[in-house]
Amino acid sequence: MPITRLSDLSDTALSPRLVIKVGSALLVGPEGVRRSWITQLVAEIAEARARGQDVIVVSSGAIALGAATLGLEKGGRGSLADAQAAAAVGQIALSGLWAQLLDDHGLTAAQMLLTLEDLEDRRRYLNVTATLTRLLDAGAVPVINENDSVATQEIRFGDNDRLAARVAQAARASAVVLLSDIDGLYDRHPKLPGATLISMVEGVSREIHAMASTESNSGMGSGGMVSKLQAAEIAELAGICLVIGNGQHDRPLERIVGREIGTLFTPGDRKAGARKAWLGGRLRLKGELLVDDGAAAALRRGSSLLAKGITAVEGVFGRGDPVAIVDGKGHVLAHGLSEYDAAECAAIVGLHSSEQERVLGYAPRSSVVHRDQMVLK
Ligand code: GLU
Repeated sequence: MPITRLSDLSDTALSPRLVIKVGSALLVGPEGVRRSWITQLVAEIAEARARGQDVIVVSSGAIALGAATLGLEKGGRGSLADAQAAAAVGQIALSGLWAQLLDDHGLTAAQMLLTLEDLEDRRRYLNVTATLTRLLDAGAVPVINENDSVATQEIRFGDNDRLAARVAQAARASAVVLLSDIDGLYDRHPKLPGATLISMVEGVSREIHAMASTESNSGMGSGGMVSKLQAAEIAELAGICLVIGNGQHDRPLERIVGREIGTLFTPGDRKAGARKAWLGGRLRLKGELLVDDGAAAALRRGSSLLAKGITAVEGVFGRGDPVAIVDGKGHVLAHGLSEYDAAECAAIVGLHSSEQERVLGYAPRSSVVHRDQMVLK
């Protein structure tokens, strides 16, 4: 039985495993750590554990905390170097705080700091899955953050929303709850008259993206509605529900789950297989294959991509690397693993499959991206 409403999140059978992401502004206020609020959230986490639910926490706040300690301006977000230094200082306090508060309920915290690459490299991703599974089996509560001190600009998540969705995917969670500073997704800018909270979204469509507003950004964290919707899409492909709810209340989970105030994103029928979901959620790809209208239509019907439909090749990639398949208007149609490297692809652009062997000297695969290695966007 799938999750169909927010109250299902407290149902152990429907939601055996939850990921709860806590934004920086909720954890750190002008006076420092918001200890009494976190204590209440941890009590709610302990209740979920007592019901038999596994809980993984994705906690931001390292940069904000460290910046306060080091006296860095702009909350430590003035430069990458500031953010990395702040995170190194703040993470110690952050992990210590979670460990202590969870321990008050007899729960063991387990810290994991992840980078984008840990989740984008298939082997490392599977390793993260194994560690998370082992920790949960052993009864621990994993507390996860991005390893901000080492992740460079191009290879960072930068926001914990997408990180939380990827972690949920790796841990095969039932749902991700993003605790934010806003009740959920509104149909227009939340400050505009008549703005209405959308309680349920089945599949993140273009119209839903158009509703996203960056105005909900508190200035502390780096997420905003845009990164939350991206997170919802990652979760959707993985067949996982995602909730955006307001954490600015006492006992925030009670308000979201018990009173059902928030936006629930359900995956609908878009769920892909495990490998495809991992591929579709990747943020970094090695190159692009541009395709003509005929190939674009064929892909949408479920066909593999043949060299004949490719018009251009961009980037440097090897065999088996992930690439984007892009139509003539620049829309990304799919992500897939290329059967040929970039130079080979360039050599066979526009050719019929039967000519591939003549040009390359071999042609182990007739398609350039096989449909089993592809996920439509
Ligand atoms: N990883 C960052 C931190 O711990 C937060 C990222 C975010 O704002 O989502 O401060």
